[in-house]
Amino acid sequence: MSEVLPGLVVGSGGGAYEVLLEDGRTVSAVLRGRLKRESRLGDRLVIGDRVSAAPVDAGPDEEGWTVESVEPRDTQIVRRGPTDRRPKVIAANVGRMFAVVAAKDPEPRLPQLDGLLVIAESNDVEPVVVINKVDLEGTSDFVRRAQDIYAVPGYEVIAVSAESGEGLEELDTALNQGTSALIGPSGVGKSSLLNALAPELQLRTGEISRKVRRGRHTTVSSRLLRLPAGGLVADTPGFGDVGVWGLPPEEVEPCFPEISELAPDCRFRGCTHLAEPGCAVLEGVESGSVPRSRWESYAELRRGSSEPGG
Ligand code: GDP
Ligand code: ZN
Repeated sequence: MSEVLPGLVVGSGGGAYEVLLEDGRTVSAVLRGRLKRESRLGDRLVIGDRVSAAPVDAGPDEEGWTVESVEPRDTQIVRRGPTDRRPKVIAANVGRMFAVVAAKDPEPRLPQLDGLLVIAESNDVEPVVVINKVDLEGTSDFVRRAQDIYAVPGYEVIAVSAESGEGLEELDTALNQGTSALIGPSGVGKSSLLNALAPELQLRTGEISRKVRRGRHTTVSSRLLRLPAGGLVADTPGFGDVGVWGLPPEEVEPCFPEISELAPDCRFRGCTHLAEPGCAVLEGVESGSVPRSRWESYAELRRGSSEPGG
């Protein structure tokens, strides 16, 4: 066999993968037989997977590639939607998830933002709060309020405007630390922000839903976009959805750092922090050390509704 090169899966769809090879080439590859059989049982390859690929002769003028092996994943983003029969991995090795909301148009909803942050936490990915459209009038109150609230769990809050450019430098820095994903409802400006940072991406904006894109060789439905400074950003249709992806109630607490931190001080072990006497979390809400909106989002999820406020 000839050369085997390390690479990164930067696109997937239609049964083939786009692999960015170490030498800078992007090639189209299919799974080798053994991996194909394994992927039928478990997870297929997803964007962000680190692989090794080898060329195969596929005719006189066409060079095909096969994925020979896959490295273990550091992290994986798993979607457990109500319509998914099984949990579905949608991206691998994502280091940070950016929960994007607009300060206005559409009107921000804290329960929805908390849901996005829970998606990050439940996947063991560092969450970052992004508030876009701060150029719009009357948005500074919300920005200040969000900064106060999300300082409590220790989240970075980045206020930006794709329109005016405010805060873009800070966002650029944050997005250029490895691989990340922007999640949030449609219309908040995720594509506009990426276009502002990397105009050559030419992402379509202002659309309700994005259709499956056609690549040169394959139907690419999921991609890792490269920013000029080297950061990789997952662009997948599955991230448009909001709502917590089927998180069991008992797994909610660790997704709220400021709540799980207080849990050991509760009178009862296994306290749900919903109504128990001697609950340190409820005392924290009363004293103001736990933001009420955060506790309300927690309580909604803990009671088992699929999206806080939804
Ligand atoms: P996405 O669905 O999250 O990708 O949102 P889009 O990038 O498609 O943006 C939705 C709409 O919001 C478009 O009409 C954009 O022009 C507009 N928009 C995006 N960013 C900003 C911003 O910072 N300020 C203002 N005023 N409008 C924005
Ligand atoms: Zn408690």
